[in-house]
Amino acid sequence: MKSYSFCPICANRLEQAFIDGRERMFCPSCSWVHYVNPLPVAVAYTVNPKNELLVIRRAHEPAFNEWALPGGFLETGEEPHEGCLRELMEETSLMGKVDSLIGVYHRDVELYGSLLVVAYKVIVTNDAITINHELFEAGFYPPHLIPEIRIPLHLQIIQDAAKS
Ligand SMILES: [Zn+2]
Repeated sequence: MKSYSFCPICANRLEQAFIDGRERMFCPSCSWVHYVNPLPVAVAYTVNPKNELLVIRRAHEPAFNEWALPGGFLETGEEPHEGCLRELMEETSLMGKVDSLIGVYHRDVELYGSLLVVAYKVIVTNDAITINHELFEAGFYPPHLIPEIRIPLHLQIIQDAAKS
């Protein structure tokens, strides 16, 4: 993760200081502080009426070409469950309904830094998929045929979904 060198408000050079319990970059001219907070992400653990799991193969970084659960960044002003269903719709054209919250997680990724991940169980009744440019493929799989998922967080979410 790259950090700011100059103030985005007044363009002064930033300095490092210990503020609110952490080393942070701040602007000595206008007092702007660079608070680095996690980015919120929603993930959709999506099942069809046969209880098959939706798994997608990613066509972008991070985890390029990896099998995964669909999801993405929340937009400003969006409820987490709305963002979850929007991402599912954008990536697969599936119209889902949130069934339950599976869990809330933190992880660090090189590309974006700190992420706060909210995972929902989503149910779809019509499972005809049209993928967008973010995916190579997507499909519903019964438990014994799910492609190998190697993203630790997504494995965790699948495990937690089984418990709930
Ligand atoms: Zn400034």
